Amino acid sequence: MSNNDVKDLNLAEGGRRRIEWAEREMPVLRLIRERFAKERPLEGVRVSACLHVTTETANLMRTLQAGGADVVLTASNPLSTQDDVAASLVVHNEIPVYAIKGEDNVTYYKHLSAALDHKPMITMDDGADLVTVMHKERRELIPNVIGSMEETTTGVIRMRAMAKDGMLSFPVVAVNDAMTKHFFDNRYGTGQSTIDGIIRATNILLAGKNFVVAGYGWCGRGLAMRARGMGANVIVTEVDPMPALEAVMDGFRVMPMEEAAQIGDIFCTLTGDLNVIDRKHFEVMKDGAIVANSGHFNVEINIPALEEMSVAKRLVRPFVDQYELKDGRQIHILGEGRLINLASAEGHPASVMDMSFANQALATEYIFKHGRELEKKVYSVPEEIDREIARLKLDAMKVKIDTLTPEQVHYLNSWQEGT
Ligand code: SAH
Repeated sequence: MSNNDVKDLNLAEGGRRRIEWAEREMPVLRLIRERFAKERPLEGVRVSACLHVTTETANLMRTLQAGGADVVLTASNPLSTQDDVAASLVVHNEIPVYAIKGEDNVTYYKHLSAALDHKPMITMDDGADLVTVMHKERRELIPNVIGSMEETTTGVIRMRAMAKDGMLSFPVVAVNDAMTKHFFDNRYGTGQSTIDGIIRATNILLAGKNFVVAGYGWCGRGLAMRARGMGANVIVTEVDPMPALEAVMDGFRVMPMEEAAQIGDIFCTLTGDLNVIDRKHFEVMKDGAIVANSGHFNVEINIPALEEMSVAKRLVRPFVDQYELKDGRQIHILGEGRLINLASAEGHPASVMDMSFANQALATEYIFKHGRELEKKVYSVPEEIDREIARLKLDAMKVKIDTLTPEQVHYLNSWQEGT
């Protein structure tokens, strides 16, 4: 494959303007880029990144490049690419990009493979695809790899499973586990962008609707909170008693999916798991139900089962497939069950990606410096980096906080002082 595969290079100019617009909300990443440009800490490192090709990711790529890295980018999801951004990275930054919005599965994997042909020393994943392909099919590349970064919850779970089985061949930094990542990106990012995606796809009023949120992890919490803010009656489904209890105390109705399926108007899965909305749920859903996923790939909703149950299917608006069942009920699937916040909207806003990608940039620097000393394990982002990002973000937002007095420091460090 030549050194890029994008939809249309003529889209580059519009892409550049949108990348600059996102950059305004990414002050922490900008500071890192300025330092990288001076210190060039990534000089000579080949990086292959598999991330959603968005304006925010473009700013991360520019940051790595400013640090001296030789980067290539491929999509982490066939529907999330912004074609103008892909074009701009190629035209304005000379970064090879392999990503076309709506590409089929074969092309998606061809693109991953093109990114691996770069012989990366560091890889960056959002869902563990590069690492998985390398471990399964391209093992000859493994000796070049110093380490890898993982952006998202499901990817981290997979990498931990690999490490547990002794299958992981290099160290991985779980960017998702940084507090400045999942507290903000997963919660406030997913909360807003998922609502945005559902509204852009359907233009439906949320007020007064029964809105079913499957999964009460960080993403589910964010979505439940924001859906309530829009006036929906939010119902949460869970399998784990702890988050289920938390959802109850946060004031949501909690019930099994089989019950929720009968009363929901809008459903959104954010579990990272398989067939969370299954045949038996479609069987009892109300006519007109809208079903979306904002969790992992397109496996959370059992679309093949719905296909089998249907007599007809038509696209009623972009990103809305209407399935007609034998009994005449219609059920709507958004964005083919792929992440709706990235399929019909633009993913998380730049202000949260600022922190996620500051973690990626600093973790890249860390791996390049220390990767050879690390074991073949999954590591967290060092706490100093996490705290520094929070401090810089507050600075950028011009929010000041208090400092402990020497007396308070002493008090907190002593056990002799009584009550
Ligand atoms: N790769 C899997 C699941 C991950 S999507 C898939 O595609 O199905 C969730 C991740 O997308 C989050 O960790 C978040 O950091 C990332 N993301 C969300 N908005 C983004 C944006 N605007 N640009 C780049 N990445 C984004």
